[in-house]
Amino acid sequence: METIENAVGGRRYVSSSTRRVPVYNPATGEQSAELPLSTPDELNQAVANAVKAQIAWGATPPMKRARVMFKFKALLDQYADDLAREISKEHGKVHDDALGEVARGIDCVDFACGIPHLLKGEFSRNVGPSIDSYSDRQPLGVVAGITPFNFPAMVPMWMYPAAIACGNAFILKPSERDPSAPMLAWNLFMEAGLPEGILNVVHGDKETVDGILDHPDIKAVSFVGSTPIAEYVYQRGTKAGKRVQALGGAKNHMIIMPDADLDQAADALMGAGYGSAGERCMAISVAVPVGEKTADALIEKLKPRVESLKIGPATDKDAEMGPVVTKMHRDKILGYIDSGVEEGASLVVDGRGFTLQGYENGYYVGGTLFDHVEPDMKIYREEIFGPVLSVVRRETFKDAVDLIHGHEYANGTAIFTRDGDAAREFADKIEVGMVGINVPIPVPVAYHSFGGWKRSLFGDHSIYGPEGIHFYTRLKTVTTRWPAGIKGGAEFTFPSLK
Ligand code: NAD
Repeated sequence: METIENAVGGRRYVSSSTRRVPVYNPATGEQSAELPLSTPDELNQAVANAVKAQIAWGATPPMKRARVMFKFKALLDQYADDLAREISKEHGKVHDDALGEVARGIDCVDFACGIPHLLKGEFSRNVGPSIDSYSDRQPLGVVAGITPFNFPAMVPMWMYPAAIACGNAFILKPSERDPSAPMLAWNLFMEAGLPEGILNVVHGDKETVDGILDHPDIKAVSFVGSTPIAEYVYQRGTKAGKRVQALGGAKNHMIIMPDADLDQAADALMGAGYGSAGERCMAISVAVPVGEKTADALIEKLKPRVESLKIGPATDKDAEMGPVVTKMHRDKILGYIDSGVEEGASLVVDGRGFTLQGYENGYYVGGTLFDHVEPDMKIYREEIFGPVLSVVRRETFKDAVDLIHGHEYANGTAIFTRDGDAAREFADKIEVGMVGINVPIPVPVAYHSFGGWKRSLFGDHSIYGPEGIHFYTRLKTVTTRWPAGIKGGAEFTFPSLK
Protein backbone atom coordinates (compact mmCIF):
# COMPACT_ATOMS: atom_id res chain seq x y z
CA MET A 1 0.00 0.00 0.00
CA GLU A 2 1.51 3.34 -1.06
CA THR A 3 1.97 6.02 1.58
CA ILE A 4 1.68 9.53 0.18
CA GLU A 5 4.62 11.75 1.08
CA ASN A 6 5.01 15.43 1.87
CA ALA A 7 7.46 17.52 -0.18
CA VAL A 8 9.35 20.17 1.73
CA GLY A 9 12.65 21.92 1.07
CA GLY A 10 13.33 19.93 -2.09
CA ARG A 11 12.88 16.59 -0.33
CA ARG A 12 10.02 14.10 -0.12
CA TYR A 13 9.40 12.35 3.18
CA VAL A 14 6.75 10.30 4.93
CA SER A 15 5.05 12.30 7.66
CA SER A 16 5.49 10.95 11.17
CA SER A 17 1.80 11.58 11.88
CA THR A 18 -0.27 8.81 13.40
CA ARG A 19 -3.43 10.40 11.99
CA ARG A 20 -3.91 8.75 8.59
CA VAL A 21 -6.75 8.55 6.07
CA PRO A 22 -7.36 6.11 3.21
CA VAL A 23 -7.31 7.21 -0.45
CA TYR A 24 -9.60 5.26 -2.80
CA ASN A 25 -9.87 4.43 -6.46
CA PRO A 26 -13.49 5.50 -7.09
CA ALA A 27 -13.76 3.33 -10.21
CA THR A 28 -13.33 0.14 -8.17
CA GLY A 29 -13.94 1.20 -4.58
CA GLU A 30 -10.54 -0.21 -3.58
CA GLN A 31 -8.14 1.63 -1.31
CA SER A 32 -5.12 2.73 -3.34
CA ALA A 33 -3.02 4.60 -0.79
CA GLU A 34 -2.77 5.93 2.71
CA LEU A 35 -2.37 9.62 3.48
CA PRO A 36 -0.77 10.80 6.73
CA LEU A 37 -2.23 14.10 7.96
CA SER A 38 0.85 16.18 8.78
CA THR A 39 1.66 17.25 12.33
CA PRO A 40 1.67 20.94 13.34
CA ASP A 41 5.46 20.70 13.70
CA GLU A 42 5.83 19.49 10.12
CA LEU A 43 3.85 22.50 8.86
CA ASN A 44 5.93 24.87 10.98
CA GLN A 45 9.15 23.37 9.64
CA ALA A 46 7.91 23.73 6.06
CA VAL A 47 7.07 27.40 6.64
CA ALA A 48 10.39 28.13 8.39
CA ASN A 49 12.24 26.55 5.50
CA ALA A 50 10.17 28.47 2.94
CA VAL A 51 10.82 31.78 4.71
CA LYS A 52 14.58 31.25 4.27
CA ALA A 53 14.36 30.02 0.67
CA GLN A 54 12.10 32.90 -0.43
CA ILE A 55 14.71 35.58 0.26
CA ALA A 56 16.99 34.52 -2.61
CA TRP A 57 14.07 33.58 -4.91
CA GLY A 58 12.39 36.96 -4.39
CA ALA A 59 15.68 38.66 -5.34
CA THR A 60 16.17 36.48 -8.44
CA PRO A 61 15.59 38.49 -11.66
CA PRO A 62 12.09 37.80 -13.00
CA MET A 63 13.60 36.70 -16.34
CA LYS A 64 15.46 33.89 -14.54
CA ARG A 65 12.34 32.90 -12.67
CA ALA A 66 10.51 32.83 -16.01
CA ARG A 67 13.12 30.44 -17.44
CA VAL A 68 12.27 27.91 -14.72
CA MET A 69 8.57 28.33 -15.59
CA PHE A 70 9.32 27.67 -19.28
CA LYS A 71 11.08 24.40 -18.37
CA PHE A 72 8.24 23.43 -16.04
CA LYS A 73 5.75 24.03 -18.84
CA ALA A 74 7.77 21.85 -21.26
CA LEU A 75 7.88 19.02 -18.70
CA LEU A 76 4.14 19.30 -18.04
CA ASP A 77 3.52 18.98 -21.78
CA GLN A 78 5.78 15.93 -21.88
CA TYR A 79 4.15 14.22 -18.89
CA ALA A 80 0.54 15.37 -19.44
CA ASP A 81 -0.65 11.81 -19.97
CA ASP A 82 0.92 10.59 -16.72
CA LEU A 83 -0.51 13.51 -14.82
CA ALA A 84 -3.96 12.77 -16.28
CA ARG A 85 -3.67 9.15 -15.13
CA GLU A 86 -2.73 10.28 -11.61
CA ILE A 87 -5.85 12.48 -11.57
CA SER A 88 -8.21 9.76 -12.82
CA LYS A 89 -6.81 7.14 -10.45
CA GLU A 90 -8.07 9.02 -7.37
CA HIS A 91 -10.72 11.39 -8.75
CA GLY A 92 -12.37 9.03 -11.24
CA LYS A 93 -12.84 11.45 -14.17
CA VAL A 94 -12.38 10.01 -17.65
CA HIS A 95 -8.94 10.31 -19.28
CA ASP A 96 -9.82 13.00 -21.86
CA ASP A 97 -11.41 15.12 -19.16
CA ALA A 98 -8.30 14.72 -16.99
CA LEU A 99 -6.14 15.72 -19.98
CA GLY A 100 -8.32 18.82 -20.39
CA GLU A 101 -7.74 19.67 -16.74
CA VAL A 102 -3.98 19.35 -17.23
CA ALA A 103 -4.15 21.57 -20.34
CA ARG A 104 -6.01 24.32 -18.43
CA GLY A 105 -3.40 24.08 -15.66
CA ILE A 106 -0.60 24.40 -18.21
CA ASP A 107 -2.28 27.56 -19.53
CA CYS A 108 -1.69 29.15 -16.13
CA VAL A 109 1.99 28.16 -16.24
CA ASP A 110 2.14 29.67 -19.75
CA PHE A 111 0.78 32.93 -18.37
CA ALA A 112 3.34 32.92 -15.54
CA CYS A 113 6.16 32.60 -18.13
CA GLY A 114 5.42 36.25 -19.00
CA ILE A 115 6.25 37.40 -15.47
CA PRO A 116 8.96 39.97 -16.43
CA HIS A 117 6.34 41.84 -18.43
CA LEU A 118 3.59 41.32 -15.83
CA LEU A 119 5.70 42.80 -13.04
CA LYS A 120 6.72 45.86 -15.05
CA GLY A 121 5.82 48.88 -12.96
CA GLU A 122 4.65 52.36 -13.88
CA PHE A 123 6.89 55.42 -14.14
CA SER A 124 6.02 59.10 -14.24
CA ARG A 125 8.69 61.69 -14.91
CA ASN A 126 8.31 65.17 -13.42
CA VAL A 127 5.44 64.54 -11.01
CA GLY A 128 6.85 67.77 -9.54
CA PRO A 129 9.87 69.84 -10.56
CA SER A 130 12.70 67.29 -11.03
CA ILE A 131 10.71 64.72 -9.09
CA ASP A 132 10.00 61.28 -10.56
CA SER A 133 7.70 58.57 -9.30
CA TYR A 134 7.53 54.83 -9.97
CA SER A 135 5.34 52.00 -8.82
CA ASP A 136 6.49 48.46 -8.47
CA ARG A 137 4.91 45.17 -7.36
CA GLN A 138 6.88 43.13 -4.84
CA PRO A 139 6.34 39.54 -3.59
CA LEU A 140 4.59 38.97 -0.26
CA GLY A 141 6.95 36.28 1.10
CA VAL A 142 5.44 32.88 1.93
CA VAL A 143 1.89 32.26 0.69
CA ALA A 144 -0.35 29.19 0.82
CA GLY A 145 -3.02 27.40 -1.20
CA ILE A 146 -5.77 25.05 0.04
CA THR A 147 -7.45 23.13 -2.78
CA PRO A 148 -10.55 20.98 -3.45
CA PHE A 149 -10.78 17.44 -4.80
CA ASN A 150 -12.44 18.20 -8.11
CA PHE A 151 -9.40 19.55 -10.00
CA PRO A 152 -6.40 18.15 -8.12
CA ALA A 153 -3.85 19.37 -10.69
CA MET A 154 -5.49 22.45 -12.24
CA VAL A 155 -6.74 24.33 -9.18
CA PRO A 156 -3.29 24.27 -7.49
CA MET A 157 -1.96 25.61 -10.83
CA TRP A 158 -4.44 28.50 -10.63
CA MET A 159 -2.31 29.47 -7.64
CA TYR A 160 1.33 28.43 -7.37
CA PRO A 161 2.72 29.22 -10.87
CA ALA A 162 1.67 32.88 -10.52
CA ALA A 163 2.64 33.11 -6.85
CA ILE A 164 6.07 31.57 -7.45
CA ALA A 165 6.75 33.55 -10.64
CA CYS A 166 6.04 36.71 -8.59
CA GLY A 167 8.90 35.70 -6.25
CA ASN A 168 6.97 34.07 -3.38
CA ALA A 169 7.48 30.67 -1.75
CA PHE A 170 4.36 28.49 -1.66
CA ILE A 171 2.85 25.94 0.74
CA LEU A 172 0.22 23.74 -0.94
CA LYS A 173 -2.34 21.79 1.10
CA PRO A 174 -4.13 19.57 -1.46
CA SER A 175 -7.41 17.71 -0.99
CA GLU A 176 -7.07 14.55 1.11
CA ARG A 177 -9.20 12.68 -1.43
CA ASP A 178 -6.83 12.88 -4.43
CA PRO A 179 -3.37 13.93 -3.23
CA SER A 180 -1.14 12.21 -5.85
CA ALA A 181 -1.40 14.50 -8.92
CA PRO A 182 0.11 17.51 -7.10
CA MET A 183 3.06 15.30 -6.10
CA LEU A 184 3.88 14.45 -9.71
CA ALA A 185 3.62 18.15 -10.65
CA TRP A 186 5.98 18.94 -7.74
CA ASN A 187 8.54 16.43 -9.11
CA LEU A 188 8.39 18.10 -12.52
CA PHE A 189 8.81 21.60 -11.08
CA MET A 190 11.90 20.45 -9.16
CA GLU A 191 13.27 18.82 -12.32
CA ALA A 192 12.75 22.18 -14.08
CA GLY A 193 15.22 23.75 -11.66
CA LEU A 194 12.98 25.32 -9.04
CA PRO A 195 15.14 26.02 -5.97
CA GLU A 196 14.46 23.91 -2.90
CA GLY A 197 11.85 25.22 -0.48
CA ILE A 198 9.95 27.37 -3.01
CA LEU A 199 7.11 24.90 -3.63
CA ASN A 200 6.19 22.72 -0.65
CA VAL A 201 3.36 20.21 -0.38
CA VAL A 202 2.07 19.57 3.13
CA HIS A 203 -0.88 17.16 3.28
CA GLY A 204 -3.50 17.42 5.96
CA ASP A 205 -7.04 18.23 6.97
CA LYS A 206 -8.70 20.97 9.06
CA GLU A 207 -5.82 20.92 11.54
CA THR A 208 -3.29 21.81 8.82
CA VAL A 209 -5.68 24.40 7.34
CA ASP A 210 -6.03 26.06 10.75
CA GLY A 211 -2.24 25.96 11.15
CA ILE A 212 -1.88 27.76 7.81
CA LEU A 213 -4.54 30.35 8.68
CA ASP A 214 -2.95 31.19 12.02
CA HIS A 215 0.71 31.09 11.00
CA PRO A 216 2.24 34.57 11.29
CA ASP A 217 4.78 33.92 8.50
CA ILE A 218 2.16 33.04 5.89
CA LYS A 219 1.12 36.32 4.32
CA ALA A 220 -1.67 35.28 1.97
CA VAL A 221 -4.00 32.32 1.49
CA SER A 222 -5.80 31.21 -1.67
CA PHE A 223 -8.65 28.79 -1.02
CA VAL A 224 -10.95 26.94 -3.42
CA GLY A 225 -13.66 24.63 -2.06
CA SER A 226 -17.19 24.64 -0.68
CA THR A 227 -18.85 27.86 0.53
CA PRO A 228 -19.08 27.12 4.28
CA ILE A 229 -15.34 26.35 4.40
CA ALA A 230 -14.48 29.27 2.09
CA GLU A 231 -16.30 31.65 4.44
CA TYR A 232 -14.58 30.14 7.47
CA VAL A 233 -11.14 30.38 5.81
CA TYR A 234 -11.79 33.98 4.79
CA GLN A 235 -12.90 35.02 8.28
CA ARG A 236 -10.14 33.23 10.20
CA GLY A 237 -7.39 34.19 7.73
CA THR A 238 -8.29 37.88 7.52
CA LYS A 239 -8.67 38.03 11.32
CA ALA A 240 -5.05 36.84 11.49
CA GLY A 241 -4.11 39.79 9.23
CA LYS A 242 -3.67 37.86 6.00
CA ARG A 243 -4.74 38.60 2.50
CA VAL A 244 -7.33 35.91 1.60
CA GLN A 245 -9.15 34.95 -1.58
CA ALA A 246 -11.64 32.15 -0.92
CA LEU A 247 -13.64 30.71 -3.81
CA GLY A 248 -16.72 28.76 -2.86
CA GLY A 249 -19.55 26.70 -4.27
CA ALA A 250 -21.97 27.23 -7.10
CA LYS A 251 -25.39 26.59 -8.57
CA ASN A 252 -25.03 27.63 -12.19
CA HIS A 253 -28.15 28.33 -14.25
CA MET A 254 -28.50 28.22 -18.02
CA ILE A 255 -31.41 30.10 -19.59
CA ILE A 256 -32.80 28.63 -22.80
CA MET A 257 -34.78 31.25 -24.73
CA PRO A 258 -37.62 30.20 -27.08
CA ASP A 259 -35.52 31.19 -30.11
CA ALA A 260 -32.49 29.05 -29.13
CA ASP A 261 -31.29 26.15 -31.26
CA LEU A 262 -32.62 23.41 -28.94
CA ASP A 263 -30.38 20.63 -30.20
CA GLN A 264 -27.38 22.82 -29.54
CA ALA A 265 -28.73 23.77 -26.10
CA ALA A 266 -29.45 20.13 -25.19
CA ASP A 267 -25.95 19.03 -26.25
CA ALA A 268 -24.45 21.92 -24.30
CA LEU A 269 -26.43 20.89 -21.20
CA MET A 270 -25.20 17.30 -21.49
CA GLY A 271 -21.53 18.32 -21.41
CA ALA A 272 -22.03 21.07 -18.83
CA GLY A 273 -24.36 19.10 -16.56
CA TYR A 274 -22.87 15.61 -16.67
CA GLY A 275 -19.22 16.10 -17.70
CA SER A 276 -16.90 15.07 -14.86
CA ALA A 277 -20.03 13.56 -13.22
CA GLY A 278 -21.22 17.09 -12.41
CA GLU A 279 -18.28 17.63 -10.05
CA ARG A 280 -17.28 21.00 -11.50
CA CYS A 281 -17.80 24.37 -9.89
CA MET A 282 -18.78 25.64 -13.35
CA ALA A 283 -21.14 22.74 -14.12
CA ILE A 284 -24.63 23.77 -15.15
CA SER A 285 -26.95 22.26 -12.56
CA VAL A 286 -30.10 24.25 -13.36
CA ALA A 287 -31.65 24.61 -16.84
CA VAL A 288 -34.21 27.40 -17.13
CA PRO A 289 -36.28 27.08 -20.31
CA VAL A 290 -38.42 30.16 -21.02
CA GLY A 291 -42.02 29.25 -21.93
CA GLU A 292 -43.84 25.91 -21.60
CA LYS A 293 -43.26 25.01 -25.26
CA THR A 294 -39.49 25.47 -24.90
CA ALA A 295 -39.52 23.44 -21.67
CA ASP A 296 -41.48 20.52 -23.16
CA ALA A 297 -39.28 20.41 -26.25
CA LEU A 298 -36.10 20.62 -24.17
CA ILE A 299 -37.14 17.75 -21.88
CA GLU A 300 -37.98 15.67 -24.95
CA LYS A 301 -34.45 16.23 -26.29
CA LEU A 302 -32.67 15.77 -22.97
CA LYS A 303 -34.38 12.55 -21.80
CA PRO A 304 -32.91 10.14 -24.40
CA ARG A 305 -29.53 11.84 -24.18
CA VAL A 306 -29.37 11.41 -20.38
CA GLU A 307 -30.62 7.82 -20.61
CA SER A 308 -27.86 6.92 -23.05
CA LEU A 309 -24.95 8.56 -21.20
CA LYS A 310 -21.90 6.30 -21.38
CA ILE A 311 -20.65 5.78 -17.85
CA GLY A 312 -17.46 3.92 -17.05
CA PRO A 313 -14.01 3.95 -15.48
CA ALA A 314 -11.31 6.29 -16.83
CA THR A 315 -9.73 3.34 -18.62
CA ASP A 316 -12.83 2.99 -20.85
CA LYS A 317 -12.10 5.17 -23.88
CA ASP A 318 -15.80 5.45 -24.76
CA ALA A 319 -16.94 6.61 -21.31
CA GLU A 320 -18.36 10.13 -21.17
CA MET A 321 -18.53 10.27 -17.40
CA GLY A 322 -16.85 8.38 -14.57
CA PRO A 323 -17.77 7.59 -10.97
CA VAL A 324 -18.04 10.27 -8.27
CA VAL A 325 -15.17 10.74 -5.88
CA THR A 326 -16.09 8.78 -2.73
CA LYS A 327 -18.74 6.45 -1.39
CA MET A 328 -19.81 9.16 1.05
CA HIS A 329 -20.28 11.64 -1.78
CA ARG A 330 -22.25 9.09 -3.81
CA ASP A 331 -24.58 8.46 -0.85
CA LYS A 332 -25.04 12.22 -0.42
CA ILE A 333 -26.03 12.62 -4.09
CA LEU A 334 -28.48 9.69 -3.84
CA GLY A 335 -29.97 11.38 -0.77
CA TYR A 336 -30.54 14.55 -2.81
CA ILE A 337 -32.35 12.55 -5.50
CA ASP A 338 -34.60 11.01 -2.81
CA SER A 339 -35.35 14.46 -1.42
CA GLY A 340 -36.24 15.82 -4.88
CA VAL A 341 -38.80 13.03 -5.28
CA GLU A 342 -40.17 13.59 -1.75
CA GLU A 343 -40.53 17.35 -2.38
CA GLY A 344 -42.55 16.77 -5.53
CA ALA A 345 -40.18 17.37 -8.45
CA SER A 346 -40.78 15.10 -11.49
CA LEU A 347 -37.98 12.58 -11.87
CA VAL A 348 -37.61 12.20 -15.63
CA VAL A 349 -34.45 10.05 -15.55
CA ASP A 350 -33.49 8.24 -12.34
CA GLY A 351 -29.76 7.58 -11.84
CA ARG A 352 -30.21 5.70 -8.56
CA GLY A 353 -29.44 2.02 -8.66
CA PHE A 354 -26.97 2.33 -11.55
CA THR A 355 -24.33 -0.41 -11.47
CA LEU A 356 -21.54 -1.24 -13.85
CA GLN A 357 -20.68 -4.85 -14.57
CA GLY A 358 -17.20 -5.68 -13.27
CA TYR A 359 -17.13 -2.47 -11.18
CA GLU A 360 -19.93 -3.19 -8.74
CA ASN A 361 -18.05 -1.57 -5.84
CA GLY A 362 -17.25 1.65 -7.75
CA TYR A 363 -18.96 4.91 -6.79
CA TYR A 364 -21.19 5.33 -9.84
CA VAL A 365 -24.36 7.41 -10.09
CA GLY A 366 -26.41 7.36 -13.28
CA GLY A 367 -27.30 10.60 -15.07
CA THR A 368 -30.38 12.07 -13.39
CA LEU A 369 -32.88 14.60 -14.75
CA PHE A 370 -35.56 16.43 -12.77
CA ASP A 371 -38.35 18.56 -14.26
CA HIS A 372 -40.73 20.98 -12.47
CA VAL A 373 -38.15 21.83 -9.81
CA GLU A 374 -39.14 24.82 -7.63
CA PRO A 375 -36.87 27.30 -5.81
CA ASP A 376 -37.88 26.18 -2.31
CA MET A 377 -36.75 22.59 -2.91
CA LYS A 378 -33.50 21.38 -1.36
CA ILE A 379 -32.27 20.08 -4.74
CA TYR A 380 -32.55 23.67 -6.06
CA ARG A 381 -31.16 25.56 -3.07
CA GLU A 382 -28.11 23.38 -2.40
CA GLU A 383 -25.12 22.44 -4.52
CA ILE A 384 -25.43 18.70 -5.29
CA PHE A 385 -22.09 18.38 -7.09
CA GLY A 386 -23.16 15.27 -8.97
CA PRO A 387 -24.73 14.20 -12.30
CA VAL A 388 -28.13 15.70 -11.49
CA LEU A 389 -29.69 18.36 -13.71
CA SER A 390 -32.76 20.28 -12.50
CA VAL A 391 -35.15 21.98 -14.91
CA VAL A 392 -36.92 25.03 -13.47
CA ARG A 393 -39.58 26.33 -15.88
CA ARG A 394 -40.09 30.08 -16.19
CA GLU A 395 -42.54 32.13 -18.27
CA THR A 396 -40.42 35.13 -19.28
CA PHE A 397 -36.83 36.26 -19.63
CA LYS A 398 -37.34 38.55 -16.61
CA ASP A 399 -38.66 35.65 -14.48
CA ALA A 400 -35.58 33.63 -15.42
CA VAL A 401 -33.23 36.47 -14.48
CA ASP A 402 -35.09 37.02 -11.18
CA LEU A 403 -34.69 33.33 -10.41
CA ILE A 404 -30.91 33.57 -10.85
CA HIS A 405 -30.79 36.71 -8.72
CA GLY A 406 -32.64 34.92 -5.92
CA HIS A 407 -29.90 32.31 -5.44
CA GLU A 408 -27.12 32.77 -2.90
CA TYR A 409 -24.46 31.53 -5.35
CA ALA A 410 -23.31 33.50 -8.39
CA ASN A 411 -20.32 31.70 -9.88
CA GLY A 412 -21.20 31.16 -13.56
CA THR A 413 -24.25 31.36 -15.80
CA ALA A 414 -25.19 31.10 -19.47
CA ILE A 415 -27.91 32.05 -21.91
CA PHE A 416 -28.73 30.24 -25.15
CA THR A 417 -30.48 32.48 -27.66
CA ARG A 418 -30.28 33.94 -31.16
CA ASP A 419 -31.46 37.33 -29.91
CA GLY A 420 -28.50 39.73 -29.61
CA ASP A 421 -30.53 42.21 -27.57
CA ALA A 422 -31.52 39.63 -24.92
CA ALA A 423 -27.95 38.32 -24.81
CA ARG A 424 -26.49 41.80 -24.40
CA GLU A 425 -28.91 42.74 -21.66
CA PHE A 426 -28.22 39.44 -19.89
CA ALA A 427 -24.43 39.98 -19.97
CA ASP A 428 -24.86 43.56 -18.80
CA LYS A 429 -27.35 43.11 -15.95
CA ILE A 430 -26.89 39.62 -14.56
CA GLU A 431 -25.30 39.60 -11.11
CA VAL A 432 -22.99 36.66 -11.67
CA GLY A 433 -19.20 36.67 -12.02
CA MET A 434 -18.76 34.63 -15.23
CA VAL A 435 -21.24 34.72 -18.10
CA GLY A 436 -21.58 32.63 -21.26
CA ILE A 437 -23.53 33.64 -24.35
CA ASN A 438 -24.26 30.37 -26.18
CA VAL A 439 -21.25 29.03 -24.23
CA PRO A 440 -22.32 26.71 -21.40
CA ILE A 441 -19.16 26.72 -19.27
CA PRO A 442 -17.61 30.19 -19.56
CA VAL A 443 -14.36 29.51 -17.69
CA PRO A 444 -12.09 32.49 -18.41
CA VAL A 445 -8.78 31.70 -20.16
CA ALA A 446 -5.56 32.02 -18.16
CA TYR A 447 -4.89 35.63 -19.22
CA HIS A 448 -8.26 36.76 -17.88
CA SER A 449 -9.22 35.99 -14.27
CA PHE A 450 -11.70 33.57 -12.69
CA GLY A 451 -14.15 34.40 -9.94
CA GLY A 452 -17.78 34.37 -8.93
CA TRP A 453 -19.87 36.92 -7.07
CA LYS A 454 -21.97 36.83 -3.90
CA ARG A 455 -21.38 33.68 -1.80
CA SER A 456 -19.24 32.08 -4.51
CA LEU A 457 -16.21 34.21 -3.64
CA PHE A 458 -15.02 35.82 -0.41
CA GLY A 459 -12.34 38.46 -0.83
CA ASP A 460 -11.46 41.22 -3.26
CA HIS A 461 -9.50 39.35 -5.89
CA SER A 462 -10.53 36.80 -8.47
CA ILE A 463 -8.02 34.03 -9.08
CA TYR A 464 -5.24 33.62 -11.72
CA GLY A 465 -4.50 35.95 -14.65
CA PRO A 466 -3.89 39.65 -13.89
CA GLU A 467 -5.88 39.44 -10.63
CA GLY A 468 -3.58 36.62 -9.48
CA ILE A 469 -0.51 38.78 -10.04
CA HIS A 470 -2.10 41.55 -7.97
CA PHE A 471 -3.08 39.13 -5.22
CA TYR A 472 0.42 37.69 -4.84
CA THR A 473 2.26 41.04 -4.86
CA ARG A 474 2.04 44.31 -3.00
CA LEU A 475 2.38 47.70 -4.53
CA LYS A 476 5.21 50.03 -3.66
CA THR A 477 5.39 53.58 -5.01
CA VAL A 478 8.67 55.45 -4.83
CA THR A 479 8.99 59.22 -5.29
CA THR A 480 12.52 60.42 -6.03
CA ARG A 481 14.31 63.70 -6.10
CA TRP A 482 18.05 64.11 -6.29
CA PRO A 483 19.99 66.63 -4.17
CA ALA A 484 20.06 69.38 -6.81
CA GLY A 485 16.32 69.74 -6.20
CA ILE A 486 16.72 70.82 -2.57
CA LYS A 487 19.66 73.18 -2.90
CA GLY A 488 17.31 76.12 -2.41
CA GLY A 489 16.84 75.29 1.30
CA ALA A 490 14.02 73.89 3.46
CA GLU A 491 10.46 73.56 2.09
CA PHE A 492 7.19 73.66 4.05
CA THR A 493 4.67 73.00 1.28
CA PHE A 494 4.09 69.98 -0.98
CA PRO A 495 6.88 70.06 -3.65
CA SER A 496 4.61 68.54 -6.28
CA LEU A 497 2.32 71.62 -6.06
CA LYS A 498 5.01 74.00 -7.25
P1 NAD B 1 -14.19 21.20 0.62
O1 NAD B 1 -14.63 22.55 1.05
O2 NAD B 1 -14.71 20.01 1.35
O3 NAD B 1 -12.58 21.08 0.75
C1 NAD B 1 -11.71 22.05 0.21
C2 NAD B 1 -10.46 22.10 1.06
O4 NAD B 1 -10.79 22.51 2.37
C3 NAD B 1 -9.74 20.76 1.19
O5 NAD B 1 -8.35 20.96 1.04
C4 NAD B 1 -10.09 20.29 2.59
O6 NAD B 1 -9.07 19.56 3.19
C5 NAD B 1 -10.31 21.59 3.34
N1 NAD B 1 -11.32 21.45 4.41
C6 NAD B 1 -12.40 20.63 4.40
N2 NAD B 1 -13.11 20.78 5.54
C7 NAD B 1 -12.48 21.73 6.27
C8 NAD B 1 -12.75 22.34 7.54
N3 NAD B 1 -13.80 22.00 8.27
N4 NAD B 1 -11.90 23.28 7.98
C9 NAD B 1 -10.83 23.64 7.24
N5 NAD B 1 -10.53 23.09 6.04
C10 NAD B 1 -11.34 22.16 5.55
O7 NAD B 1 -14.46 21.09 -0.94
P2 NAD B 1 -14.35 19.81 -1.89
O8 NAD B 1 -15.48 18.90 -1.59
O9 NAD B 1 -12.97 19.27 -1.88
O10 NAD B 1 -14.58 20.49 -3.32
C11 NAD B 1 -15.84 20.71 -3.88
C12 NAD B 1 -16.31 22.13 -3.62
O11 NAD B 1 -15.37 23.05 -4.16
C13 NAD B 1 -17.62 22.44 -4.33
O12 NAD B 1 -18.41 23.20 -3.45
C14 NAD B 1 -17.20 23.27 -5.53
O13 NAD B 1 -18.17 24.15 -6.03
C15 NAD B 1 -16.05 24.01 -4.96
N6 NAD B 1 -15.18 24.51 -6.02
C16 NAD B 1 -15.23 25.85 -6.29
C17 NAD B 1 -14.45 26.36 -7.30
C18 NAD B 1 -14.49 27.82 -7.64
O14 NAD B 1 -13.66 28.24 -8.39
N7 NAD B 1 -15.41 28.60 -7.10
C19 NAD B 1 -13.60 25.52 -8.02
C20 NAD B 1 -13.55 24.16 -7.71
C21 NAD B 1 -14.36 23.67 -6.68
